[in-house]
Amino acid sequence: MKIIPRDQHCISRKNISDGALKVMSRLRGDGHQAYLVGGAVRDLLLGGHPKDFDIATDATPETVHALFRNSRIIGRRFRIVHVRFGREIIEVTTFRGHHDNDAQPTTETGGNHSRQSASGLLLRDNVYGTLEEDAVRRDLTVNALYYDAGTFEVFDHVHGLSDLERRSICIIGEPRVRFTEDPVRMLRVLRFAAKLDFSIDPDTARAIPACAHLLAEIPAARLFDEFLKLFLAGNAAATFDLLLEHKLLQYLFPQTGEETKRNPAALALVRAAMVSTDQRIAQDKPVTPAFILAALLWPVVQRRAWQLQEHGEPPIPALHSAGQQAVSEAARTISIPKRFSQPMREIWEFQLRLQNRRGRKAAELVDHRRFRAAYDFLLLRELAGEDTGKLGSWWTDFQELPMERRLEQAALEKGPGGGRSRSRKRRNSSKA
Ligand code: ATP
Ligand code: MG
Repeated sequence: MKIIPRDQHCISRKNISDGALKVMSRLRGDGHQAYLVGGAVRDLLLGGHPKDFDIATDATPETVHALFRNSRIIGRRFRIVHVRFGREIIEVTTFRGHHDNDAQPTTETGGNHSRQSASGLLLRDNVYGTLEEDAVRRDLTVNALYYDAGTFEVFDHVHGLSDLERRSICIIGEPRVRFTEDPVRMLRVLRFAAKLDFSIDPDTARAIPACAHLLAEIPAARLFDEFLKLFLAGNAAATFDLLLEHKLLQYLFPQTGEETKRNPAALALVRAAMVSTDQRIAQDKPVTPAFILAALLWPVVQRRAWQLQEHGEPPIPALHSAGQQAVSEAARTISIPKRFSQPMREIWEFQLRLQNRRGRKAAELVDHRRFRAAYDFLLLRELAGEDTGKLGSWWTDFQELPMERRLEQAALEKGPGGGRSRSRKRRNSSKA
């Protein structure tokens, strides 16, 4: 174990939240070890501002819980304690210990604390241990540095510091074993490489193709949690590129994976959505997973809707059932909560409504609560090279007008939407 004294690293207590300092100091006062660990130490060493503070201790979850009135024990796969200070939550984990590697798969070991499936997937991991043991249980070397806020020392057991200096994302231990234990670690490797703009250690990268298929074992709900971290943390475009490069997109969105392979326009649209999300996050504008999900599945929906229209289905029902089908197929891999799938489908269905520039309906559309997202989505389609007949710039100007002017202009417009004059033929020919 390498110990780096206070004058040889740049971490200052000033940059650590009061909550985290309080938790560590009370644990130490009660005779326990307590360290800042994980992303916070990594980001502080890189000179950044951690988004949250995780603490590792030798105290059990029950002991931690007993020490803090404002705390609760959560989790099953990993039992951890959340200590709340106003809006901030400090996550306290007890050092994890070694697994008994000779244990029979799927049988409980260490007194019902750790559990592995027949394929080596870790189902539960609640064997407690020392700092050294905890360090090697973590995912990446750069995530396994510990800061002692009492002595101001940094503890490095896995060459985390030299990997930080080399700007390298390296899995701890034997990559195949660690990916087999938890395939989500492959996604984490890509996520941190994108976030930190680090390269991926060659041994770590080489193990990905061999283990990628194991992602199919991950529960849909966990994949959705990971999806949020991958695409809503400000580095979606870089993450997306790495997912393509390492062929992991198909384990999150199989249909999109296929579609982007054969259709450059689909790829352009999804990527444009990622870039635009990153820009919004950089400008502190709100973002919703519904928008990115809408882009990820749109090429799939669009293709299905066209097929249905070729079989004589009118555009609106075609789009509706294409959307329904795409959502239920995607849900087999990744769960999409209703609060996101509903707005996502509204964004799609709005794409047809936006083709309609005529009459009161068009004038009123601008005030609809989904207009903004749907209009942004239309611009994105154009940005990705889709020919919408300059619909985007029409709506750009139109929405700026006061209601009376919109009504006037919409009355003058030609094309679908003018009520009676709309012919059956024309409706059938308007593609989504
Ligand atoms: P950030 O919070 O900035 O996204 P982080 O490194 O804190 O990054 P978390 O997901 O908060 O990431 O996890 C906290 C720490 O827990 C990680 O730094 C890592 O050491 C460990 N960890 C998280 N997930 C895993 C995993 N799947 N396998 C092993 N260790 C993990
Ligand atoms: Mg964290």
